[in-house]
Amino acid sequence: SSNAILSPNMYLKSLEINGFKSFAGKTVLTFLPPRQGLQSITAIVGPNGSGKSNIADAIRWGLGEQSMKMLRGKKSEDIIFAGAAGKGRMSLGSVTLTIDNHDGLLPIDQEELTVGRRAYRTGENEYVINGHAVRLLDVQLLLARAQFGQGSYSVIGQGMIDQVLLSSPSERKELLDEAAGIREYELKRHQAELKLATS
Ligand code: ATP
Repeated sequence: SSNAILSPNMYLKSLEINGFKSFAGKTVLTFLPPRQGLQSITAIVGPNGSGKSNIADAIRWGLGEQSMKMLRGKKSEDIIFAGAAGKGRMSLGSVTLTIDNHDGLLPIDQEELTVGRRAYRTGENEYVINGHAVRLLDVQLLLARAQFGQGSYSVIGQGMIDQVLLSSPSERKELLDEAAGIREYELKRHQAELKLATS
């Protein structure tokens, strides 16, 4: 089955959104675990403009997405709750993903881990793994090892299938590289090249 190529055990256990886009208060979504080796499916329903896509944006952003276009915004503070009837705007937006790592796919000696991101209106951005401040690169490397990166097939957005079909060979290669697990080494090579260039 098509599920055989997925890791049947590593999964997004919960998502906490606070002050992100239309989510003013703390909102926690809990997802179902895999059952009988198959990933569970969660559907989010609601009227147009009620914030469904903002949830997908929260997952992308929490995984380190840098492109404001992918996040449907213009400037980085667009992701922070801007205020609504009766509620003032917030100065901080945060997202935390709790990932179940029973099968040890993520190279971390823990059955569960959290990956989080915080942004302030002042422009500061913080990345957090298991409550410890880390660099964006650390988040990218960790997720690359699990073939669970941002910006690729982990989050398939509206119109993305069309894009894949219409994409150039080099864009398509990026997708395959991540699926094949070599993204980690590309990130490391890039870091090494940057170091060499500045030394
Ligand atoms: P559709 O069905 O049209 O795709 P949707 O349910 O996916 O809609 P979203 O696009 O996720 O809805 O949400 C859009 C709503 O989020 C809009 O009402 C918009 O005003 C609100 N929104 C986006 N960014 C912010 C922000 N920074 N602060 C407050 N509200 C925001």
